[in-house]
Amino acid sequence: MEYDIHLKNGEIIDGTGAPKFKSDVVIHKGKIIGIFPPENGDVRNVSDNHFLSSFTAKHTFNADGKIISPGFIDVHTHDDDNVFLDPSMSSKVSQGVTTCIAGNCGISLAPFSYNGEVPAPIALLGKSDVFRFPRVKDYKNHFNNNPSSVNVALLTGHSMLRVEAMNGEFDRPANSTEIKKMVDNLQIALEDGSIGLSTGLAYPAANAAPTSEIIELAKVLPPQNGIFTTHMRNEAIDVIKSVQETIEISSSSNVRTVISHHKCAGRENWGKSEKTLQLIEEAKKNNCLDLDCYPYTASSTMLLKSFVKRADKVLVTWSDKYSDVSGQDLNDLAKKFNLNIDDTIDKLYPAGAIYFQMDDQDLNRILQFPGTMIGSDGIPGDRHPHPRLWGTFPRVLGKYSREMKLFPLEEAVYKMTGKSASVFGLESRGVIEVGNYADLVVFNPKTVNDNASYQSPKLRSEGIENVFVNGMLVWENDKPTSNRPGKFLSGKNFS
Ligand SMILES: [Zn+2]
Repeated sequence: MEYDIHLKNGEIIDGTGAPKFKSDVVIHKGKIIGIFPPENGDVRNVSDNHFLSSFTAKHTFNADGKIISPGFIDVHTHDDDNVFLDPSMSSKVSQGVTTCIAGNCGISLAPFSYNGEVPAPIALLGKSDVFRFPRVKDYKNHFNNNPSSVNVALLTGHSMLRVEAMNGEFDRPANSTEIKKMVDNLQIALEDGSIGLSTGLAYPAANAAPTSEIIELAKVLPPQNGIFTTHMRNEAIDVIKSVQETIEISSSSNVRTVISHHKCAGRENWGKSEKTLQLIEEAKKNNCLDLDCYPYTASSTMLLKSFVKRADKVLVTWSDKYSDVSGQDLNDLAKKFNLNIDDTIDKLYPAGAIYFQMDDQDLNRILQFPGTMIGSDGIPGDRHPHPRLWGTFPRVLGKYSREMKLFPLEEAVYKMTGKSASVFGLESRGVIEVGNYADLVVFNPKTVNDNASYQSPKLRSEGIENVFVNGMLVWENDKPTSNRPGKFLSGKNFS
């Protein structure tokens, strides 16, 4: 019998959090068909009754001294259009990422059919001409015809439903007719294959939405096994209130909930994660509530006055009018323009920024929390992006697990694979198990680390050797291959 791929002599971290063990992995037709200890040839698990001690493989990879783990699932991305613009998805596969959850923070490329001016932060996804998918099934078909190297799953953005249903009048609560329209469109999106709803309540497009509006929408999700992810209304002075609002939404609609990129922003709010995590832990007893986090103390989004006020330091990542300001400090730009900060922002807008505003202690505490998954929140279109776009996953493995010992490697991997697949309902992924899809990464546990920095944000990470998506090699020798095996993933049945 000849199989497709044989990964030899590696150590498996299977994505469940269990201790690593020495083993080979055999891949055939996109799936994992065998996992067995290499020395004695003992069959540990086979799906087709063949003895794995006597077989050949078309391609053999020596993983001696390396870890074989499930491919990483980036649960928080804005890669909605990036999968089409750069189908190699080098920023992600170079980190070992094999699946991206797109459509976060209330903004998704689909469903959207609105031709007017789009409010912040919808522009993070691109200019109005990028919105070409009235329905999720249009997006899905386009992806299936033009697949990327990674799998993609799509959340439906509340802000997209809102701007469309309210015909651009987003600056007030929606009325019952408008809510009905949003509910109907969310239903259709879920039927088309969207995995749930995301909100971006901190932003102009959705800030006027009261809690009750979100609850009406969240109630649509459980019958269709949809998930609810939320960039909360406030991550600074009112972060505790916002966690309480999220718990209220989660419990009154009985929906699986994920708090996006959990943080306590602004010096006066440092330390509040003790309280927020306590609230989350308490709520977890009765609700399905988790969170995602990126391993940096600076955040990044559009350049907005309210965000600038609470940050220690601000770097501009892009500006439509002044392309040469990317990577520069906002204070320096204000001096150069001889303007105050507010006028400088007006001059640059629309623009993006990196905000230095979080505390290491909060970050460590949030990363260590058992309910935390890893999500990059990388913004792919930025000229000078936040380094999280290229560095998140190796940084958690290298800096936070190996060097700082916040958690064992097995737990770090769990937070980016098995945990994520189970919370987001990605069937037969996230765990190395016979019969599962062969989304795998081979990495060097001694060298894996991020290189991307605030100064040089597009440097590739260290120690990611081979990455496989659906059984096909997508990253080797520090380069993407030409394979594009990504699939559009819909949620699984939780009933
Ligand atoms: Zn967000």
